[in-house]
Amino acid sequence: MQPAYFCPLSGYAVTVTRPSTARIALNRPLRRLFDYRIPETMTVSPGQRVKVPFGRQTLTGLVVETGVTPPDGITLKPILEVLEPWLALPTATFQLLSWASHYYQHPLGECLFTALPPALRRGRPSQQKQDEHWQGTQNIAPLPANAHRQKALLESIQRAPGISTGELVKAGFNRPQIKSLRDKGLIELSDPQHPTFSESIVTVDGPRLSPAQLAAAKELPQVTDRFSATLLYGITGSGKTELYLHYLTQKLQDDQQALVLVPEINLTPQTLERFRRYFGHRIVAWHSALNDSERLATWLRIRHGEPVILIGTRSAVLLPFTNLRAIVVDEEHDNSYKQGEGFRYSGRDVAVYRAHLNQCPVILGSATPSLESWHNARQGKYHLIRLEQRAGNASPPEVELLDIRSRPLEAGLSRPTLNAIKETLVRGEQALVFVNRRGFAPIMMCFDCGHMEECPRCDTRLTYHRRDRAMRCHHCDFQMAASHSCPKCRSENFKPVGQGTERTEETLAEQFPDTPIVRVDRDSTQRKGSIQNILAQVNSGAPCILVGTQMLAKGHDFPNVTLVAVVNADGGLFSVDFRAPEQMVQTLLQVSGRAGRGEKPGKVLIQTCHSDHPLLKSLCQGNYAALADQLLTERQTGALPPFRAMAILRAEADTMQASLQLLDSIKPMTAANGIETWGPLPAVIARKADRHRAQLILCSNHRRQLNHLLTHICQYLDQCKLPTSTKWIVDVDPQETG
Ligand code: ADP
Ligand code: ZN
Ligand code: ZN
Repeated sequence: MQPAYFCPLSGYAVTVTRPSTARIALNRPLRRLFDYRIPETMTVSPGQRVKVPFGRQTLTGLVVETGVTPPDGITLKPILEVLEPWLALPTATFQLLSWASHYYQHPLGECLFTALPPALRRGRPSQQKQDEHWQGTQNIAPLPANAHRQKALLESIQRAPGISTGELVKAGFNRPQIKSLRDKGLIELSDPQHPTFSESIVTVDGPRLSPAQLAAAKELPQVTDRFSATLLYGITGSGKTELYLHYLTQKLQDDQQALVLVPEINLTPQTLERFRRYFGHRIVAWHSALNDSERLATWLRIRHGEPVILIGTRSAVLLPFTNLRAIVVDEEHDNSYKQGEGFRYSGRDVAVYRAHLNQCPVILGSATPSLESWHNARQGKYHLIRLEQRAGNASPPEVELLDIRSRPLEAGLSRPTLNAIKETLVRGEQALVFVNRRGFAPIMMCFDCGHMEECPRCDTRLTYHRRDRAMRCHHCDFQMAASHSCPKCRSENFKPVGQGTERTEETLAEQFPDTPIVRVDRDSTQRKGSIQNILAQVNSGAPCILVGTQMLAKGHDFPNVTLVAVVNADGGLFSVDFRAPEQMVQTLLQVSGRAGRGEKPGKVLIQTCHSDHPLLKSLCQGNYAALADQLLTERQTGALPPFRAMAILRAEADTMQASLQLLDSIKPMTAANGIETWGPLPAVIARKADRHRAQLILCSNHRRQLNHLLTHICQYLDQCKLPTSTKWIVDVDPQETG
């Protein structure tokens, strides 16, 4: 029996049918969904988390649709359990992920599950052991003079009402101390779900905005209930972060959520601190170092609509916000916004789509905007704001090219560079030396027979790491002990060639024996907390030399660094990847931007063998806008993104022939109008970890047409009976084309 209702609109009694079937997404790399029966006693809605039988297993699923008609002759198994009464993925988040699944051609199930914290993906319950939250009371009872910890605890609670026991314990207090304050009637439990954030805002005396910042602030979107996309092009040190803070303080209401995407939180803990100073307890961080229970707790706060300001890396854009009213994407050009494996989405691009769905503003900020965003701004799709003066008393650094052809070098460093470092140290300031490769030297070579050590599993050379005398492949996990003589001819004339961070560090330590040398690369920062220690040392301001890879180019604010030296700028000039020049220019300008951010002027020395190269010459003027225009003209001439949509189909197999064959079989499908293909060709590193890799590049003037074709290709390949060792993937808007 179906229940009958009286419909006020039609005036008739209607029968409401309770859907009896549901289509469910599972966390599997399968481009299909699964139908189940909804038991009589159960109601489910799209976005809800359920348990379903799957073969002999029980899996967690997400409801995608209800009331579906399953294929004939199939008896559906029942859904076993609804995991919570509310939607794990609220409608807007669900729509966002469905769109992304389609746009990036990635299976819906895996896309949807990316938005759940690991515990919920595994089917764990969403109720957390309720943490107690605290606030101060009106009571004034004197604490004993020596109760320092209790006083500090009371202050912390008064400063951030709603703070939880967990957070207080993390801050170094213990449960007995909390209990004691409660027993004295000085604190009480507060509403766990909605601590009163507005009261927790620590009033800070941020710097007064400069006239240039004020002018920019006026141009930022005025309302938070309409879509707008703004590109904030502000040179390094122009005070973009200060502007975001100002913007959120002014525009975000107490009950609204905001998202600030950053490339990497661990590298720039200062940013988080700056936000905390303004918004206190309302700031919540989301990054890869959180453990599962921290992830779940944060996820729940966002899902339940707490008015947090989330500072997070890429995947934060997929979280189930319910009242998101502003999005900021800082350093929007940064490559780490694009996921390199699995669900290959761009956090920046998804952020723009999310703002559109939510009807809220998105602000993309960078000193070196991506050519995509620059193009959108030039076309008027994004509102462009320029901030071309440094904040405070800082002025842009002076950039000089130093031609190193036929100059004697000390492990890659020229005399003028060493002299400049020396002068900097003598003035009591800090120098930063940028090397684009970690390890000691990128090549070990025999000067008698010419042999070079290569990775046995990849088509690449092994990097020599002197510290532990190891030869390592930076593309797979292969490593072996370095040998003293040539493995081929036994000659002792077997030597490192080229520069890595370790070698530069060693040379500098010899040249400047009394100065601390701080190396920053993936090897030196592996241990937890090491980057914090390194940054603390640099921020103390004492003279030192920083040596590092592009980790050093990312958003740091070191006021006492006044010299930046680039050991070799030429890597990106002649690469096959069409994005290489853009990335080279961005990295060089970003690393240059670390010089002279404080009161003292900065200088940048770029060592190159191509000092007459037009890109490098324009770089010296520090005018990124002109460079971006120039690079865009080249992209247009080459009919490359952002002027056309691009996707890459990659294949890898046990033999190159198998990879190429797979792509060859696809090529006829691409003959549709307007799709241009390049390849199939072996990838630049054709063999990686013993897998043979090939690629087919697809371009089209019409994104929709390309997307349509990709859907077909995926469907076709899914049906093909490929050998299990043959794999393929689609990368939409690829960042690397080599
Ligand atoms: P960006 O994000 O553009 O690199 P930041 O916001 O980090 O720039 O600002 C660079 C430096 O200038 C920081 O040390 C910041 O505290 C300082 N700063 C920013 N705005 C002002 C201002 N209006 N007055 C004084 N100092 C400022
Ligand atoms: Zn040899
Ligand atoms: Zn390798």
